[in-house]
Parts: sequence; structure tokens; C-alpha cells
Amino acid sequence: HGDSAAPAPMLAQRLAAGDRAALARAITLVESKKAEHRAQARELVQVLLPSTGRALRLGVTGVPGVGKSTLIDRLGSMLTARGHRVAVLAVDPSSTRSGGSILGDKTRMAALATDENAFIRPSPSAGTLGGVAARTREAMLLCEAAGFDVVLVETVGVGQSETAVADLVDCFLVLMLPGAGDELQGIKKGVIELADIVAVNKADGDGVARAQAAAGDYRAALHILAPASPAWSVPVAIVSGATGAGLEALWATIGDHRARMEAAGLLQARRRAQQVTWMRVMLEERLTARLRTDPAIRRRLRELEAEVAAGRLAPLVAADELAAAMGA
Ligand code: GDP
Repeated sequence: HGDSAAPAPMLAQRLAAGDRAALARAITLVESKKAEHRAQARELVQVLLPSTGRALRLGVTGVPGVGKSTLIDRLGSMLTARGHRVAVLAVDPSSTRSGGSILGDKTRMAALATDENAFIRPSPSAGTLGGVAARTREAMLLCEAAGFDVVLVETVGVGQSETAVADLVDCFLVLMLPGAGDELQGIKKGVIELADIVAVNKADGDGVARAQAAAGDYRAALHILAPASPAWSVPVAIVSGATGAGLEALWATIGDHRARMEAAGLLQARRRAQQVTWMRVMLEERLTARLRTDPAIRRRLRELEAEVAAGRLAPLVAADELAAAMGA
């Protein structure tokens, strides 16, 4: 109904009133590759900025199959039943629009998908990790402006996407499998070092004992790897997304983390540092875009590449010259 032509101020009004269709439309603008859409999106984010920042921002990661979507569906439903409004976003730089995103998929979160107090959005389509994370950050701000007070950002436990998501959220939850021999693997990959909370999932049926044993291993490893800060030492929870066991306690732990971080001034510090990171990512994105789109720069880049490839020019000299051409 002429939605695509809706001027930003009207879209902003509808979004601020909590209209999910308007929110979806706004996120589409944010993710668009068209310059005019992006300009509208920037205006929208700018207008709505004062009403952002009020949500609890929770990152959730874990290897495929660890039970992220099952747990998010269950936890999210528990929270909407308590009067929260829950948005689920995803960061998956490998996703493509045509193939559909593995993460944030409504079919994997059956209860939340039909919950009117929930909003699910799959990952922006493939791009640089920085670009995908930047779009997700803007989407998160829009969700907050639309009155969602819990924003869950899901990502897979591969590559650098955890670092990008840890840079978006207030609290980073790492899900682990019980006794799958991947304990030390997760620790080696450095994911554990990003964790604010570790939860061993699938503690149900005959998985309970294994989950408890795995939790013991993680506690011991965390004790060595991540010395407790005065404000917070990383706890290891035992949960089941399938039965809901441990989710009340997990939510209490998440609240406790927030309260302590806030009291120590660390929540504000973390968000300020994230703002600076975000600015740098946007700047790098813009510079990279100029390399691709500015015809003169592109031509010079191709010439210099040919010179470097032929061994006539040192890479450093070529890089310097191109930087100079870009006014850097
Ligand atoms: P994701 O890839 O991390 O999103 O994992 P899914 O939520 O899709 O779950 C992967 C598989 O594990 C599915 O077959 C689920 O049925 C199963 N699963 C998920 N959560 C649990 C749980 O808490 N307990 C058990 N026993 N199985 C689970």
C-alpha cells in the first residue's frame, strides 16, 4: 500500500508506535543497497536515536546444532509471557538472500514466529562481516525505538562473527554442548574469552549428568583462562532449551550481570567503546566502497595492480600512491 514511498517521518511515527510492519520496512531500508534508501534509513535512525538504547542487548552464540534457535524460542516466549517485547536478529555473513539465512529463521522459532510481542529478523544478506554487523546494529536501534526491550542477536560459532556480535551487545551468552569433547576446542578458539555467561545446553534426559560434568570442566577452565574481574566472574549455567529447565535461573543471571555492570559503570563504558568501534567500521566501509565505486580511483587501482603484478612496483609504494590519490 505505497509503503515503499512512505516518507521517513511517517514511517518513524508508525515505528515508534510499535508497528512491526513499519519496523520490518525500516530494516529493509537499512539493508538496501540503493543510495536513496540508505539515505532514508540514516535519517530514520537519526530521528529515532533518542528513543534507542533502552533494551537489554543479549548476544547468543554456539556451534550449529547446539540448540540456539530452540533456546531462543523458549526463552523469548518465557519473556513475552512476562510482558517483555522480544526482538531476534541474526549475524551470519555467509547468508545469501536467495539461499535464506540459517539464523533468525522464523520456521526454527515456531512459538516466537506467531507471538505478537516478538519480532524475528534473519541476517542481512551476505556482505563483509563489518557491513553485516553494522546493518544489524542499525536494526537493533530500530527495534529499540519500536519498543522492544529485549534484543537477542544470534550468531554461529564460526569465524569472527562472535567478536562482531560481542561488540554489539551488553551480555554475550555462549552455548556449549555437554560432553562432546569440544570443551577445549571452544576455549582455544577464544570464544570463551568473549563470554559473559557460559551455558551448557541439552541438560535433559540422559544428558543431565553429562551436562553437569561438562559444566565442571568449563568452570575449571574459566578459572584459569579468565580471572574474575571485580565486577563479574563468568558463571557456567546448565540449561535445556527443549524442556525450559534452567531458563528462569539463566534469565536471573543475565539480569544480575546487567545490574552489576551498570553499578560499576561498565555497561556505559562498554556501549561507548562499541560506538567508537561502530564509527570505525562505518568509516572503513565507506573507504572500501570508494575503492569500488569512484571511477578514477578504480582506474588507478587497476593500473597499479598491473604494475605490482608485473614486479615493476613495490606493493607499499603502490598502496601509498593510491592512498594519496584518495586524499588519505
Ligand atoms: P541451532 O543450530 O544451534 O539453532 O540448534 P537447534 O535449536 O536447531 O537444535 C539442533 C538440534 O538439537 C535439533 O534437533 C533440536 O531438536 C535439538 N535440541 C535443541 N535444543 C535441545 C535441548 O535442549 N535438548 C535436547 N535434547 N535437544 C535439543
